[in-house]
Amino acid sequence: MKLYQKTAHRLHEMLLNKEVSSEEITQSVLNRISTVDEKVGAYVTVLGENALDTARKVDRKIKDGTNIHPLAGIPIAIKDNMCTEGIRTTCSSRILYNYMPPYNATVIERLGEVDAVMIGKTNMDEFAMGSSCENSAFFPTCNPWSTDRVAGGSSGGSSASVAADEAIVALGSDTGGSIRLPAAYCGVVGMKPTYGAVSRYGLIAFASSLDQIGPFGKDVTDCALLMNVICGHDPMDSTSVKFDVPDYTTFLANNVKGLKIGIPKEYMGEGIDAEIKNSIQEAAEKLASLGAEVEETGLPHTKHGLSAYYLIAPAEASSNLARYDGVRYGYRAQDPEDMIEMFKKTRSEGFGPEVKRRIMLGTYALSAGYYDAYYNKALKVRTLIKQDFDSAFEKYDVLLSPTSPIPPFKRGEKVDDPLQMYMVDICTLAVNLAGIPAISLPAGMVNGLPVGLQLMGKPFDEGTLLRAAYTFEQNTVHHENKPSI
Ligand code: GLN
Repeated sequence: MKLYQKTAHRLHEMLLNKEVSSEEITQSVLNRISTVDEKVGAYVTVLGENALDTARKVDRKIKDGTNIHPLAGIPIAIKDNMCTEGIRTTCSSRILYNYMPPYNATVIERLGEVDAVMIGKTNMDEFAMGSSCENSAFFPTCNPWSTDRVAGGSSGGSSASVAADEAIVALGSDTGGSIRLPAAYCGVVGMKPTYGAVSRYGLIAFASSLDQIGPFGKDVTDCALLMNVICGHDPMDSTSVKFDVPDYTTFLANNVKGLKIGIPKEYMGEGIDAEIKNSIQEAAEKLASLGAEVEETGLPHTKHGLSAYYLIAPAEASSNLARYDGVRYGYRAQDPEDMIEMFKKTRSEGFGPEVKRRIMLGTYALSAGYYDAYYNKALKVRTLIKQDFDSAFEKYDVLLSPTSPIPPFKRGEKVDDPLQMYMVDICTLAVNLAGIPAISLPAGMVNGLPVGLQLMGKPFDEGTLLRAAYTFEQNTVHHENKPSI
């Protein structure tokens, strides 16, 4: 196995045993990027020298006998919507094509404190709006398993980088499924933490009441290691919650005896591909054979989730994106006649079609006369969805479902049909509306393409999700499948 194929926890052992240096690991990942990224399109920016500098710093620490963190010297890819001081942060949008943040997002600061090696910034759907990574203003990210298919979105660059071994681990953001869906499509592990568990300071906002940063890894252990670094209260984010951050690796036990798992029937019915359903059923049986108590349950308001999400998310986006007017930063249209024309031209030229659609939908839903009929009603539905989860979690520790209703689809297949694209999110977006944590992990293959299993949990009970996911992983071989790119 090549260095770039290994997990962070394995590489950490090798670093401690002095079998390898961080410079060698980093160089091996950089070489891998040069070889395959042409085909994948995971990166908007690759950080060669910067990355090697950090790697050498870690190597000096190891040589000096200084204790290092498990993620020290490990190459990590960052979705390009997290601010990195002095490093271009584009949100894969024309409007931010030259934006140099003057500060780091809190998660970037934390990764810096443990000497993780930031290897590059990854491609995404523009402003994280999309499910396929085709809405990038630059280029689409291709699925490493089959490059004519989508990587999933919006964090498709991050998931593809881990799947194609162009990064050891990665960070993404999830507003309605943007970590879990691409994790499922690329055959890696991705986790969306509880709302408020990870600081959003320096995460370029899409829909602030839904956005959350989370990890991607080649296995569950690597996700737990990243959770240890990124979780915790931050005074710079008023929605960040004060809680005792556990050591998430302590939950990595191969044991689900007595764990109560519910399968919401709404997630296994209409619209779910038959072969995906089979794989998920098999996964449930596997967990049952390992001692979990698995049974069917219901989340009755599920069918209204999609409409509620596609009102709330665009409403918040229309407000958040009002700041891109060409005045302070980012793209500015050339030679406008007056200020109003400058705003108009800047926004018409700077935003892509999906972002414009969301701004218009959101502005409409928030406008006087429609506010009560659309936005307010969506908020009420949101409460009902949250209550569905609350009552399910009175009985169950974990809820289990597919991550995506369909396998990774062909590039170009849905990009001109917004409604079809929105439907891909039916299994993921309720989790964000309710603010709960969820994880997606490999659960098999259908026609050579990965299937993702989603486990959803109680607020701040990421530990139980990690335990269930780890147990599943230890007793299956799905995560060992690798694309032959
Ligand atoms: N696909 C969903 C959307 O387009 C979710 C995106 C996300 O989680 N950032 O809004």
